[in-house]
Amino acid sequence: MAFLSARVERARISASAASAQRTRELRAAGVDIIGLSQGEPDFATPDHVIEAAHRAMRDGQTRYTPVDGTPELKEAIVAKFRRENGLAFKPENISASAGGKQVLYNALMATVDAGDEVIIPAPSWVAYAIMTEFAEGVPVWVRTGPANGFKVTPAQLQEAITPRTKWLMLNSPSNPTGAVYTGDELRELAGVLERHPHVWILADDMYEHIVFDGRPFVSFAQAAPQLADRTLIVNGASKTYAMTGWRLGYGAGPANLVRAMARMQAQCSLNPSSISQAAAVAALNGPQDIVAQRCTEFQLRRDKVLPLLEAIPGLSCTRPDGAFYIYISCAGWIGRRTPNGQELKTDVDVGAYLLESGVAVPEGTGYGLSPYFRVSFATSLDKLVEACRRIDGAARKLE
Ligand code: PMP
Repeated sequence: MAFLSARVERARISASAASAQRTRELRAAGVDIIGLSQGEPDFATPDHVIEAAHRAMRDGQTRYTPVDGTPELKEAIVAKFRRENGLAFKPENISASAGGKQVLYNALMATVDAGDEVIIPAPSWVAYAIMTEFAEGVPVWVRTGPANGFKVTPAQLQEAITPRTKWLMLNSPSNPTGAVYTGDELRELAGVLERHPHVWILADDMYEHIVFDGRPFVSFAQAAPQLADRTLIVNGASKTYAMTGWRLGYGAGPANLVRAMARMQAQCSLNPSSISQAAAVAALNGPQDIVAQRCTEFQLRRDKVLPLLEAIPGLSCTRPDGAFYIYISCAGWIGRRTPNGQELKTDVDVGAYLLESGVAVPEGTGYGLSPYFRVSFATSLDKLVEACRRIDGAARKLE
């Protein structure tokens, strides 16, 4: 009898984690690799946030807290939604966890039974599908593409809904494509969802503050207030405040769901770190100017890197409107041969070839849409420019 569970088989290593791991190994062996896999801002956590964490430790905020967040943190999150999104939540609607990832996990584990379906746009962040499978649910992929800016259309949504549908996962700005839904697009999707009252919507707003060209960010919850009783927002401190390592995410939704999520969390991990909670209060209530400054920096990098990538033979890019990723089609490389005679049959082969060429990127397979690879521009311009030069060199060597 096998010792490991069938469940652990479902915990596939994500494409970006696998790529980051390969990069570390090669670097340790002395190979010069530029890693473009990172899913986190390359900035530092703001000083006043770090100070608040120190203070919390010194003041004895080092003990268990209420399971899904301290009253101070919940108030700060309520204030954030009022200030930034015009949404009126109460503390009972708020759930804080060790990252947005755990909010998602709690929500799926608290609602999905065997055979329940979760609609997931492809490509998407891999966690949606894997966690659905943990909960013995069935991921229902809806294939998007460049023609629709990698966004789900109302007709596609309508077609994907069945009596077993529990959730629609909606991530805007999107990891891995940078697609940003407009208010009108969200309202059209809401029109479909109004006809299917059994379907809940998970609005993953994690990249809310990284939207380019002055476009407004619209949360699904803002676009469809009539569906508030079945919408859960997922957000967190990771991307907005460069706090990925602090592990502090939050959800906002109907109180009955939030209570169920707390029950799950109570038996898995209890409260998120008391120190990270105090830090997040400082981040949410403190000065916000840094957030826009960093968004501007990401936009500068996108504008520098996109033309370089677009000039590379055989690749095709869709301009990201947000987040810090470009999802690049490498269809033009498939069927070609590398200098040592190997045929590139899939984007996994392309990823391996790029690694040989000194650039690590996660392949599209991991996000559910091939043949693509993802480039993260959350790294310095120097490195990005050099990486583009290497990818271009690799392209020109193909036969
Ligand atoms: N949603 C998306 C789309 C993400 O890319 C991530 C992080 N990679 C998260 C949620 C979760 O972030 P965290 O757990 O750090 O809050």
